Amino acid sequence: MERPSPSQTAALDLAALAQPHLSPVLGRYFEVSWSHGEGHRLYDTAGRSYLDFANGIAVTALGHRHPKVTAAIHAQVDRLIGPTAAIGYAEPVVRLAAAIAAEMPAPLDTVFFGNSGAEAIEGALKLARRVSGRPGIVAFQGGFHGRTFGAASVTSSNILYRRGYEPLLPGVHLLPFPAVYRDFGGDEERAVETCLAAVRRLFETTIPPDAVAAFLIEPVQGEGGYVPAPPAFLRGLRRIADEHGILLIVDEVQSGYGRTGRMWAFEHAGIVPDVVCLAKSIANGLPLSAIVSRRELQERWGKSAHGTTFGGNPVACAAGLAVLETIKAEGLVENAAAMGAELQAALRGLMARDERIGDVRGLGLMVGVEFVRDRRTREPDGALVDALLARCADEGLLVLSCGRDHNVVRFIPPLDVTRDEIGEAIGIFEGALRSLPSHPEAAGI
Ligand code: PLP
Repeated sequence: MERPSPSQTAALDLAALAQPHLSPVLGRYFEVSWSHGEGHRLYDTAGRSYLDFANGIAVTALGHRHPKVTAAIHAQVDRLIGPTAAIGYAEPVVRLAAAIAAEMPAPLDTVFFGNSGAEAIEGALKLARRVSGRPGIVAFQGGFHGRTFGAASVTSSNILYRRGYEPLLPGVHLLPFPAVYRDFGGDEERAVETCLAAVRRLFETTIPPDAVAAFLIEPVQGEGGYVPAPPAFLRGLRRIADEHGILLIVDEVQSGYGRTGRMWAFEHAGIVPDVVCLAKSIANGLPLSAIVSRRELQERWGKSAHGTTFGGNPVACAAGLAVLETIKAEGLVENAAAMGAELQAALRGLMARDERIGDVRGLGLMVGVEFVRDRRTREPDGALVDALLARCADEGLLVLSCGRDHNVVRFIPPLDVTRDEIGEAIGIFEGALRSLPSHPEAAGI
């Protein structure tokens, strides 16, 4: 496809316009000025199109301006924008709570809506402490749960999220996560045993289990490097939680809603958590998050123990209903499983041809490709990934990085991605990788 270069058009340079007044604190993967989105493509102000396998970091899971979602938003905007959270009930809010509950295994049946992933985590932590009367929270190294104080306190995917903000929330204990490839030489059994032993050791040495309110875990670490937790580890945590009356909170903010080829990533382990946090893709771009648990827990949490002004906005909930209906009607969980298998197979083929890829992993359409300088030492190669993301974007494919050393490329295609689009992405990715030297930073790239 012939793509005009920015210099061929009088493109609006939003990066330059942003420079004097928009906060510089927010990190951006690209300095691109976006014009609009259509289906699975984003368009910049120079008219260039990009196949979007980033989706605003796993948000626009049905692509841009999905007709059913857009129609639902238009209809609700013309009726009631809200918010109505504290003054009564609005139909899409009540209906979406029921629709989400219907997708959850028993006994998870009750939904509290917020606006963002971090807010869902904050609420879940508050619920756990209030309901259990216990102070301790156990979370896992490499996890990312958000940027507000409570969420940052349980986050350890990168020191950037914590440095200079201490003291963070007290009572938080961060234990090793079973990152099978990076920390355990590919030995899943050893990873599971070691990390479960660390939980038991914590209880013997640091905090008794009857002072722990909750375990908090991402079933697939997102920011931390697209690392699935081994099912045996999640089952082990569930067992320990049951033994000691500890709540198991699962952060499905990035992995939820069909992304992993199951509606919920925790299903891969055959467990049922006590609390599930959702956000990102649930309204395909409008701000919405949810805390889901059994009713009895939220009854014990207590009336007015928590609240929100904007959470559960009727327009966002109307979009959320359209998202769920579309996922069901179009079989998109199944599509994520099938297309994810094809994507992973193609990336493994690439790994067989390119030594710089140390690992390809993931579930469904949540796929990470880890780059190393040396397969034996597994030394991370973040510089190559930086250059690779930029080269892919130049060639019309948006993918993102993750991992502490930014050395993992994450593929987050829309849930309704097609086989042709997977082929197109792999073609661009392979071409971009081939065009880069092993040490792009040394070559000045
Ligand atoms: N939890 C996970 C697993 C996430 O990936 C994120 C965001 O990337 C969050 C929580 C925080 O979500 P938000 O940025 O909406 O606050």
